[in-house]
Amino acid sequence: MRKAIITVAPTGEGAGRKDNPALPVTPREIAQAVYESWQAGASVAHIHVRDDNEKPSMSLEKFSETFHLIREKCDIVINLTTSGDIRAGDEERMAHLLKLRPEIASFDCGTMNWANDDVFMNHPRFLEKLARVMLDCSIKPEVEIFDTGMLTNAQYYIKQNLLQEPVHYQFVMGAAGGIPASIENLTWLVRQLPENATWSAFGVGRHHIPIMAAALLLGGDTRVGFEDNIYYSKGLLAKSNAQLVERAVRLAHEFGRETASPLEVREMFKLRNQEK
Ligand code: ZN
Repeated sequence: MRKAIITVAPTGEGAGRKDNPALPVTPREIAQAVYESWQAGASVAHIHVRDDNEKPSMSLEKFSETFHLIREKCDIVINLTTSGDIRAGDEERMAHLLKLRPEIASFDCGTMNWANDDVFMNHPRFLEKLARVMLDCSIKPEVEIFDTGMLTNAQYYIKQNLLQEPVHYQFVMGAAGGIPASIENLTWLVRQLPENATWSAFGVGRHHIPIMAAALLLGGDTRVGFEDNIYYSKGLLAKSNAQLVERAVRLAHEFGRETASPLEVREMFKLRNQEK
Protein backbone atom coordinates (compact mmCIF):
# COMPACT_ATOMS: atom_id res chain seq x y z
CA MET A 1 0.00 0.00 0.00
CA ARG A 2 1.14 3.54 -0.69
CA LYS A 3 2.05 5.91 2.12
CA ALA A 4 -0.94 7.36 3.97
CA ILE A 5 -1.62 11.08 3.83
CA ILE A 6 -2.85 12.53 7.11
CA THR A 7 -4.71 15.81 6.64
CA VAL A 8 -5.49 18.11 9.53
CA ALA A 9 -8.61 20.30 9.41
CA PRO A 10 -7.99 22.46 12.48
CA THR A 11 -11.10 24.63 12.41
CA GLY A 12 -14.22 24.35 10.27
CA GLU A 13 -17.46 26.31 10.34
CA GLY A 14 -19.35 24.31 12.94
CA ALA A 15 -17.84 23.96 16.39
CA GLY A 16 -16.82 27.03 18.38
CA ARG A 17 -14.62 27.79 21.34
CA LYS A 18 -17.60 27.21 23.61
CA ASP A 19 -17.64 23.59 22.39
CA ASN A 20 -13.91 23.06 22.74
CA PRO A 21 -11.77 25.87 24.22
CA ALA A 22 -8.73 24.54 22.32
CA LEU A 23 -10.32 25.31 18.94
CA PRO A 24 -8.10 27.71 16.98
CA VAL A 25 -9.89 30.83 15.73
CA THR A 26 -7.44 33.60 14.79
CA PRO A 27 -4.97 33.24 11.91
CA ARG A 28 -2.15 33.01 14.43
CA GLU A 29 -3.89 30.26 16.40
CA ILE A 30 -4.78 28.34 13.24
CA ALA A 31 -1.17 28.56 11.99
CA GLN A 32 0.11 27.35 15.36
CA ALA A 33 -2.33 24.40 15.35
CA VAL A 34 -1.19 23.52 11.82
CA TYR A 35 2.45 23.75 12.85
CA GLU A 36 1.93 21.41 15.81
CA SER A 37 -0.02 19.02 13.58
CA TRP A 38 2.80 19.07 11.02
CA GLN A 39 5.25 18.21 13.79
CA ALA A 40 2.95 15.31 14.73
CA GLY A 41 2.99 13.99 11.15
CA ALA A 42 0.23 15.73 9.19
CA SER A 43 1.28 16.51 5.63
CA VAL A 44 -1.76 18.50 4.43
CA ALA A 45 -3.71 21.27 6.18
CA HIS A 46 -7.30 21.91 5.10
CA ILE A 47 -7.96 25.52 6.05
CA HIS A 48 -11.08 27.46 7.03
CA VAL A 49 -10.97 30.88 8.68
CA ARG A 50 -13.20 32.77 11.11
CA ASP A 51 -13.98 36.46 11.42
CA ASP A 52 -13.28 38.43 14.60
CA ASN A 53 -16.54 37.17 16.09
CA GLU A 54 -15.59 33.53 15.47
CA LYS A 55 -18.10 33.24 12.62
CA PRO A 56 -17.18 31.20 9.53
CA SER A 57 -15.81 33.49 6.86
CA MET A 58 -14.41 33.68 3.34
CA SER A 59 -12.43 36.82 4.23
CA LEU A 60 -9.56 37.22 1.81
CA GLU A 61 -7.59 39.04 4.47
CA LYS A 62 -7.97 36.23 7.01
CA PHE A 63 -7.08 33.57 4.45
CA SER A 64 -4.07 35.55 3.35
CA GLU A 65 -2.80 36.12 6.88
CA THR A 66 -3.32 32.47 7.85
CA PHE A 67 -1.71 31.20 4.64
CA HIS A 68 1.43 33.29 5.11
CA LEU A 69 1.76 32.49 8.80
CA ILE A 70 1.63 28.77 8.01
CA ARG A 71 4.16 29.19 5.21
CA GLU A 72 6.57 30.92 7.60
CA LYS A 73 6.40 27.96 9.98
CA CYS A 74 6.51 24.79 7.88
CA ASP A 75 6.30 23.13 4.46
CA ILE A 76 2.91 21.46 4.99
CA VAL A 77 0.77 21.27 1.84
CA ILE A 78 -2.01 23.86 2.10
CA ASN A 79 -5.54 22.97 1.02
CA LEU A 80 -7.93 25.95 1.17
CA THR A 81 -11.66 25.44 1.51
CA THR A 82 -13.96 26.95 -1.10
CA SER A 83 -16.93 26.43 1.23
CA GLY A 84 -16.09 28.47 4.29
CA ASP A 85 -19.35 30.42 4.49
CA ILE A 86 -22.65 28.97 3.36
CA ARG A 87 -23.92 32.46 2.37
CA ALA A 88 -20.87 33.44 0.30
CA GLY A 89 -21.33 34.14 -3.41
CA ASP A 90 -19.45 32.36 -6.20
CA GLU A 91 -16.73 34.99 -6.63
CA GLU A 92 -16.12 35.23 -2.90
CA ARG A 93 -15.61 31.48 -2.80
CA MET A 94 -12.83 31.67 -5.39
CA ALA A 95 -11.08 35.00 -4.74
CA HIS A 96 -8.56 33.50 -2.27
CA LEU A 97 -7.61 30.82 -4.82
CA LEU A 98 -6.78 33.44 -7.43
CA LYS A 99 -4.77 35.46 -4.95
CA LEU A 100 -2.98 32.78 -2.92
CA ARG A 101 -2.82 29.87 -5.39
CA PRO A 102 -2.75 27.09 -2.81
CA GLU A 103 -1.53 23.69 -3.95
CA ILE A 104 -4.90 22.05 -3.19
CA ALA A 105 -8.45 23.36 -2.70
CA SER A 106 -11.75 21.67 -1.95
CA PHE A 107 -14.23 21.00 -4.75
CA ASP A 108 -17.62 20.12 -3.26
CA CYS A 109 -19.17 18.04 -5.97
CA GLY A 110 -22.90 18.75 -5.52
CA THR A 111 -25.66 20.48 -3.59
CA MET A 112 -27.25 19.13 -0.42
CA ASN A 113 -29.29 20.13 2.60
CA TRP A 114 -26.99 21.32 5.35
CA ALA A 115 -27.44 20.46 9.03
CA ASN A 116 -31.23 20.34 8.50
CA ASP A 117 -31.50 24.11 8.40
CA ASP A 118 -29.83 25.39 5.26
CA VAL A 119 -28.82 24.51 1.71
CA PHE A 120 -25.19 23.83 0.84
CA MET A 121 -25.32 25.22 -2.67
CA ASN A 122 -22.86 24.07 -5.32
CA HIS A 123 -24.68 25.00 -8.50
CA PRO A 124 -23.37 23.38 -11.70
CA ARG A 125 -22.53 26.89 -12.96
CA PHE A 126 -20.36 27.45 -9.89
CA LEU A 127 -18.64 24.07 -10.14
CA GLU A 128 -17.78 24.71 -13.77
CA LYS A 129 -16.27 28.12 -12.93
CA LEU A 130 -14.44 26.70 -9.94
CA ALA A 131 -12.97 23.85 -11.99
CA ARG A 132 -11.71 26.34 -14.59
CA VAL A 133 -10.10 28.55 -11.94
CA MET A 134 -8.35 25.52 -10.45
CA LEU A 135 -7.12 24.42 -13.88
CA ASP A 136 -5.88 27.93 -14.70
CA CYS A 137 -4.08 28.28 -11.37
CA SER A 138 -2.75 24.67 -11.31
CA ILE A 139 -4.54 23.95 -8.04
CA LYS A 140 -5.34 20.29 -7.42
CA PRO A 141 -9.00 19.80 -6.56
CA GLU A 142 -9.84 17.65 -3.59
CA VAL A 143 -13.21 16.34 -4.72
CA GLU A 144 -15.38 16.16 -1.62
CA ILE A 145 -18.11 13.55 -1.80
CA PHE A 146 -20.88 13.93 0.79
CA ASP A 147 -23.28 11.56 -0.88
CA THR A 148 -23.30 8.95 -3.63
CA GLY A 149 -24.81 11.14 -6.38
CA MET A 150 -21.82 13.46 -6.11
CA LEU A 151 -19.69 10.66 -7.60
CA THR A 152 -21.65 10.81 -10.84
CA ASN A 153 -21.27 14.60 -10.88
CA ALA A 154 -17.51 14.06 -10.63
CA GLN A 155 -17.63 11.62 -13.54
CA TYR A 156 -19.37 14.29 -15.61
CA TYR A 157 -16.64 16.87 -14.89
CA ILE A 158 -13.96 14.30 -15.73
CA LYS A 159 -15.66 13.71 -19.10
CA GLN A 160 -15.78 17.46 -19.70
CA ASN A 161 -12.03 17.65 -18.94
CA LEU A 162 -12.82 20.02 -16.08
CA LEU A 163 -11.44 17.55 -13.57
CA GLN A 164 -8.18 15.95 -14.63
CA GLU A 165 -7.37 12.36 -13.80
CA PRO A 166 -6.07 10.98 -11.56
CA VAL A 167 -8.69 12.57 -9.30
CA HIS A 168 -8.31 12.71 -5.53
CA TYR A 169 -11.55 12.14 -3.62
CA GLN A 170 -12.41 12.99 -0.03
CA PHE A 171 -15.36 11.03 1.38
CA VAL A 172 -17.16 13.04 4.04
CA MET A 173 -19.28 10.52 5.91
CA GLY A 174 -21.95 10.99 8.53
CA ALA A 175 -22.84 14.64 7.86
CA ALA A 176 -26.56 15.34 8.31
CA GLY A 177 -28.11 14.98 4.85
CA GLY A 178 -25.15 13.01 3.52
CA ILE A 179 -24.18 9.35 3.29
CA PRO A 180 -24.27 7.56 6.67
CA ALA A 181 -20.83 6.75 8.08
CA SER A 182 -20.48 2.98 7.89
CA ILE A 183 -17.66 0.75 6.76
CA GLU A 184 -20.06 -0.95 4.36
CA ASN A 185 -20.81 2.40 2.70
CA LEU A 186 -17.12 3.28 2.56
CA THR A 187 -16.17 0.05 0.79
CA TRP A 188 -19.03 0.64 -1.68
CA LEU A 189 -17.83 4.19 -2.39
CA VAL A 190 -14.26 3.04 -2.93
CA ARG A 191 -15.42 0.39 -5.42
CA GLN A 192 -17.08 3.09 -7.56
CA LEU A 193 -13.86 5.02 -8.15
CA PRO A 194 -11.88 4.98 -11.37
CA GLU A 195 -8.83 2.69 -11.22
CA ASN A 196 -6.32 5.55 -11.10
CA ALA A 197 -8.07 7.55 -8.36
CA THR A 198 -6.72 8.26 -4.89
CA TRP A 199 -9.02 8.75 -1.95
CA SER A 200 -9.35 9.77 1.66
CA ALA A 201 -12.22 9.36 4.10
CA PHE A 202 -13.33 10.60 7.47
CA GLY A 203 -16.42 10.26 9.63
CA VAL A 204 -17.99 13.25 11.31
CA GLY A 205 -18.22 13.32 15.14
CA ARG A 206 -18.50 9.94 16.81
CA HIS A 207 -17.86 8.20 13.49
CA HIS A 208 -14.30 9.46 13.20
CA ILE A 209 -12.53 6.44 14.68
CA PRO A 210 -14.20 3.61 12.71
CA ILE A 211 -13.96 5.48 9.39
CA MET A 212 -10.32 6.49 10.05
CA ALA A 213 -9.39 2.91 10.88
CA ALA A 214 -11.24 1.50 7.86
CA ALA A 215 -9.76 4.09 5.49
CA LEU A 216 -6.23 3.32 6.66
CA LEU A 217 -6.80 -0.45 6.36
CA LEU A 218 -8.33 -0.14 2.89
CA GLY A 219 -5.36 1.82 1.56
CA GLY A 220 -6.87 5.31 1.69
CA ASP A 221 -5.91 8.51 3.44
CA THR A 222 -7.69 10.17 6.30
CA ARG A 223 -8.42 13.55 7.85
CA VAL A 224 -8.65 14.52 11.50
CA GLY A 225 -9.20 17.79 13.31
CA PHE A 226 -11.71 20.04 15.01
CA GLU A 227 -13.58 20.78 11.78
CA ASP A 228 -15.01 17.28 11.89
CA ASN A 229 -14.73 16.21 15.50
CA ILE A 230 -13.78 17.94 18.77
CA TYR A 231 -13.58 14.80 20.94
CA TYR A 232 -10.72 12.44 21.55
CA SER A 233 -13.11 9.74 22.75
CA LYS A 234 -16.67 9.61 24.04
CA GLY A 235 -17.21 12.55 26.41
CA LEU A 236 -13.52 13.51 26.41
CA LEU A 237 -12.62 16.67 24.50
CA ALA A 238 -9.47 16.55 22.40
CA LYS A 239 -6.68 18.70 23.84
CA SER A 240 -5.49 19.85 20.46
CA ASN A 241 -5.60 19.09 16.77
CA ALA A 242 -2.10 17.65 17.10
CA GLN A 243 -3.37 15.09 19.59
CA LEU A 244 -5.79 13.78 16.94
CA VAL A 245 -3.01 13.75 14.33
CA GLU A 246 -0.73 11.79 16.68
CA ARG A 247 -3.35 9.07 17.02
CA ALA A 248 -3.94 8.90 13.25
CA VAL A 249 -0.20 8.52 12.62
CA ARG A 250 0.08 5.91 15.37
CA LEU A 251 -2.84 3.91 13.93
CA ALA A 252 -1.40 4.08 10.42
CA HIS A 253 1.90 2.72 11.69
CA GLU A 254 0.14 -0.03 13.69
CA PHE A 255 -1.63 -1.05 10.49
CA GLY A 256 1.65 -1.22 8.59
CA ARG A 257 1.19 2.03 6.69
CA GLU A 258 3.95 4.58 6.49
CA THR A 259 2.82 8.20 6.47
CA ALA A 260 3.69 10.56 3.63
CA SER A 261 5.72 13.72 4.17
CA PRO A 262 4.59 16.99 2.53
CA LEU A 263 7.29 16.47 -0.11
CA GLU A 264 5.97 12.99 -0.85
CA VAL A 265 2.43 14.36 -1.17
CA ARG A 266 3.73 16.90 -3.70
CA GLU A 267 5.30 14.09 -5.71
CA MET A 268 2.29 11.78 -5.40
CA PHE A 269 -0.17 14.46 -6.54
CA LYS A 270 2.26 16.13 -8.93
CA LEU A 271 1.53 19.45 -7.30
CA ARG A 272 2.75 22.65 -8.83
CA ASN A 273 6.17 23.58 -7.54
CA GLN A 274 5.89 26.04 -4.74
CA GLU A 275 8.67 27.25 -2.56
CA LYS A 276 8.22 27.09 1.20
ZN1 ZN B 1 -13.74 22.12 5.17
